[in-house]
Amino acid sequence: MSSTLRFQIVGEAFKKRAVAVPNREERPSEFFAKYVFNRQKMKQYLPAEVFQKMCDVVDGDQPLDMATADAVAAGMKRWAMELGATHCTHWFQPLTEGTAEKHDGFVEHDGKGGMIEEFTGKQLVQQEPDASSFPSGGIRSTFEARGYSAWDPSSPVFVFGDTLMIPTIFISYTGEALDYKAPLKKALKAVDKAATAVAKLFYPDVKRVVSNLGWEQEYFLIDEGLYAARPDLLMTGRTLMGHDSAKNQQMDDHYFGSIPMRVAAFMKDLEIKALELGIPCKTRHNEVAPNQFELAPIFEETNLAVDHNMLIMSLMKKVARKHGFRLLLHEKPFAGINGSGKHCNWSLSTDTGVLLHGPGRTPLDNLRFVTFIVESLVAVHRHNGLLKASIISATNVHRLGAAEAPPAIVSSFLGKEITGLLEKLAASTDDELISLSGKQTLSLDIPQIPELQQDNTDRNRTSPFAFTGNRFEFRAVGSQQNCAASMIVLNTAMAEALTDFKTRVDGLIAQGVEPTKAILRVLREDIKASAPIRFDGNGYSEAWKQEAQRRGLDTETSAPLILDQYLSPDTVRMFESMNVLSKAELEARNDIKLDTYTKKIQIEARIFGDICMNHIIPTSTRYQTQLIKNVTGMNDILPAETASRLNSANLSLIQQMGEHNAFIIDGVERLIEARRVANRIKDSRERAIAYHDTVAPLIEEIRRHVDKLELIVDDGLWPLPKYREMLFIH
Ligand code: ADP
Ligand code: MG
Repeated sequence: MSSTLRFQIVGEAFKKRAVAVPNREERPSEFFAKYVFNRQKMKQYLPAEVFQKMCDVVDGDQPLDMATADAVAAGMKRWAMELGATHCTHWFQPLTEGTAEKHDGFVEHDGKGGMIEEFTGKQLVQQEPDASSFPSGGIRSTFEARGYSAWDPSSPVFVFGDTLMIPTIFISYTGEALDYKAPLKKALKAVDKAATAVAKLFYPDVKRVVSNLGWEQEYFLIDEGLYAARPDLLMTGRTLMGHDSAKNQQMDDHYFGSIPMRVAAFMKDLEIKALELGIPCKTRHNEVAPNQFELAPIFEETNLAVDHNMLIMSLMKKVARKHGFRLLLHEKPFAGINGSGKHCNWSLSTDTGVLLHGPGRTPLDNLRFVTFIVESLVAVHRHNGLLKASIISATNVHRLGAAEAPPAIVSSFLGKEITGLLEKLAASTDDELISLSGKQTLSLDIPQIPELQQDNTDRNRTSPFAFTGNRFEFRAVGSQQNCAASMIVLNTAMAEALTDFKTRVDGLIAQGVEPTKAILRVLREDIKASAPIRFDGNGYSEAWKQEAQRRGLDTETSAPLILDQYLSPDTVRMFESMNVLSKAELEARNDIKLDTYTKKIQIEARIFGDICMNHIIPTSTRYQTQLIKNVTGMNDILPAETASRLNSANLSLIQQMGEHNAFIIDGVERLIEARRVANRIKDSRERAIAYHDTVAPLIEEIRRHVDKLELIVDDGLWPLPKYREMLFIH
């Protein structure tokens, strides 16, 4: 790109006006879920007995018989065609991030040479996409390329554009999970079973426990013209070079600031479309970094919330284009300013209320509250390394550990009151009668226990797993990740902790211990055992790293080594005993993660090398040559002594550029060699380690020289849009 083109693009971006969003006459409550085949539509479009059967399938674990499936498909087709759908697709979440779909028209031969619209129960329930190009970690070899996608009736189908989208799980011919949804559903079932058993200790009528997820999606917007002029953004989703803008987020003037008009129009458009798709959007605001924003819906059942997050990620990219933007979901598109995460607010609830909600109305309510808090801590403590592994990726690593996002050590913040309460409880004895009562405060009738304020507004922002009133907020998840990965770990770990808790309580009761005392005894053990995970201090501090190590928490920072956690004996035991993932599946999935890690850095290294050699070096050399001409010209026209004095500044610049150029050219050669060496390694783990240790750091090292050149070279020649040009939408 020539420099004049850069100015043209920047100028155009600057002049752009907000796209008008048509005003909707109806209220959100009227168009909410317009495109979703939810219960209300089912009732309208299905015969009564079919509707009843479908409700049983959705609510319980009833399998769907083919006759019902056919009847459901018929009603669904009628509804979808009224909304203009012509195609249907099984929509699934393969182990590459993102979603996959294969569209089939609703057409079939009518046997008389014509066509009819058809959509059968079989098409609804199961398909066999030739999925040989989806990663399977060796589970499914290419000669047996069949994978099954099977309908997940607990997540309603919806119409998106001209297509009826059917949420499905994706499994191999031999039954292994090849996606995120299949293990997520198993994890949710496991936590339901374990938590229901524990909840019954307090409320004998509880039938079912549901896991909830409320995600907060962060993203960046950038003008599409500027995006197109950055090959690195285009290929990798982040800028691999670019000097800091003089002004970025240091004034703290973007966070919760007023939303620029162009962006507000985009947000409005997006929200309307999301609401129509049944995504209960609620909150929108500017984030900390310039051009960074957040969208959050009301929380939902975890499986549905994950689907909605996957859907909104693709929806928001599409809507952004209509407004002349590109939407960046990369965790760290720009160095030096905040990256994007996706806080995952997690809780469990019964048909009667949230289990992490406290304090309750009765003493038993309060004991339930303490139990679920403590067992969450046990789960996170036991599997803190695995939880970190669930969010690690080649892109999210740029966020972790930097003083803007969760540290690379998982710990939990509870606030002073609850921490104090747990400590008192741990130190109490059986004989101290504990009665928990009170509406506004949780007071235990032991005098030394402080009262727990209901409004616990004190929130440690540096904590990766913070208790925020009625839920835990896991803040380490990356903006472009599928939340299912961490929800699988969290819910399975919770299922394991609760199962273990219940076994010990039952054991004590069998020995004749009174139930409340039995619960308290086990809780005391668990509070002590999980104590190392509780940390209320500054998670970014150097001292915490040392302290965490002493406490035995996982402090590993290398992504490929963090992934080892997926195969540790503790992890395998947990997943196998909770019937969520087998060892073979875990191995296959880890292989895919390692391979994805390697490929991402490989692509970065390639495009980085290209930009260095094709854009940066030629530009810098051109400017250097101009300066050299200037110096020789000065020598020609001025007396030697004057020329030498006046030339010294330019000579210094010429030399600096020479040094940077030489470093970059040599660095790119070393980068290529490092890749070559790494690529020869057969073992995926060793290869990922080589990419982590040799390739990734070289990119950063060379980048520093490119960014220095950006400050020296004539702005009129610089070939790439600069940070200050990309980061401010007006
Ligand atoms: P903040 O930015 O202060 O963390 P937000 O209001 O932006 O909070 O987001 C909070 C998210 O947590 C929302 O998605 C909300 O629906 C969700 N949430 C609230 N209560 C629960 C709960 N009990 N379980 C799961 N998610 C919850
Ligand atoms: Mg939050």
